[in-house]
Amino acid sequence: MSDRPTYPTGPRLDAIFTATRALFDLPEGLVYLDGNSLGPLTHAARARVTDEVAAQWGAKLIRGWNESGWMDLPREVGDRIAALIGAPAGSVVASDSTSVNLFKVLSAALEMRPDRRVVLSDSGNFPTDVYVAQGLLARLDRGHELLVVEPEDVADTMAARGAEIATIMLTQVDYRTARLHDMADLTRRAHDAGALAIWDLAHSAGALPVDVTSAGADFAVGCGYKYLNGGPGAPAFVYVASAHAEAVRPTLSGWMGHESPFAFDLGYRPGPGIDRMRVGTPPILSMASLHAALAVWEGVDMADVRARSIELSELFIAEVERRCPELVLESPRDPQSRGSHVSFRFAHGYAAVQALISRGVVGDFRAPDMMRFGFAPLYVTPRDVVRGATVLETVLRERLWDRPEFTQRQKVT
Ligand SMILES: *Cc1c(COP(=O)(O)O)cnc(C)c1O
Repeated sequence: MSDRPTYPTGPRLDAIFTATRALFDLPEGLVYLDGNSLGPLTHAARARVTDEVAAQWGAKLIRGWNESGWMDLPREVGDRIAALIGAPAGSVVASDSTSVNLFKVLSAALEMRPDRRVVLSDSGNFPTDVYVAQGLLARLDRGHELLVVEPEDVADTMAARGAEIATIMLTQVDYRTARLHDMADLTRRAHDAGALAIWDLAHSAGALPVDVTSAGADFAVGCGYKYLNGGPGAPAFVYVASAHAEAVRPTLSGWMGHESPFAFDLGYRPGPGIDRMRVGTPPILSMASLHAALAVWEGVDMADVRARSIELSELFIAEVERRCPELVLESPRDPQSRGSHVSFRFAHGYAAVQALISRGVVGDFRAPDMMRFGFAPLYVTPRDVVRGATVLETVLRERLWDRPEFTQRQKVT
């Protein structure tokens, strides 16, 4: 099939995102549709990490904590992320992993609703969130119940059992299907029932417009290494609504969350507001990489990001369905109900993705049979999308997935 562009080229969006793509250090010729799992390197992060290693750590050693701004970096990174999720400055801090941050906010939420015993989640949640809740509830040993319902049953469950629910704990964009929860609506229902609302924004932050303030979210967490491009294992973030910021009593009460870490008092006193969600010494190289990577969002309007994301994902679905009729779309067909990735089911999905990668198109695979493709507008172009669909067509038509070298499962899928 010809590679002539058949996509709608919005010239305004093309200009914006041609400029942002130039900020990324992507391998030549690679079609990267996996930024929802690990965002690519930016030129800014490459330069910053090099500088932090040589000119800060290398040259300044311990003085770096004061002279290189290391101590304030978690808050500065937090403020850059806050701007992307509709949070006021000073309400987000970068620290730890999403899993650990979820533990922090879930334990805080349960303490704020001591007479309620149910945590409501759904089967589309990312497993680590569910595991963390299972571990915490078991350790509390106070008769809590983790209720995991189907995503479409969350609202009805709140209506039926609202008085028992301490908090809802949901991921806004389903990591497999990209189904999008209505954060404002479910949060309002939770509040109407007297419950709190915790949102995992791992596949939302940097992917679509998010407004934790107007949605009324009580707590939110999310990843720094997906759409925010912080690098492998980059710190995650945690948001606490200002109404709770001075009331939260951290369970992980570490010294970096203390009001005065260098007083070395033996009694814990929580730091002001969001600072108390910090625990231990921040990983400065990762934190600096994330801080630099977040500069690519300056001047970018999330409404444009959303428009481009929809343009790209709609184009991909149309191209794939035309070329590969044997594939089944698993994501919602309505783009308004979808995040920024698209999943297709295919029985040989794992091997097909490996074959795609061998031909320079990177997607990923989620068990049992989902091929997943992410469309990060800052660097994915309509041309990439058409190329991805073209190579997928070749992989299927030539049964490349049937080759033994592609069926061997690796540790990370
Ligand atoms: C990627 C992802 C995580 C990952 O958590 P880490 O602790 O950073 O490994 C958590 N939650 C969701 C919804 C995710 O998509």
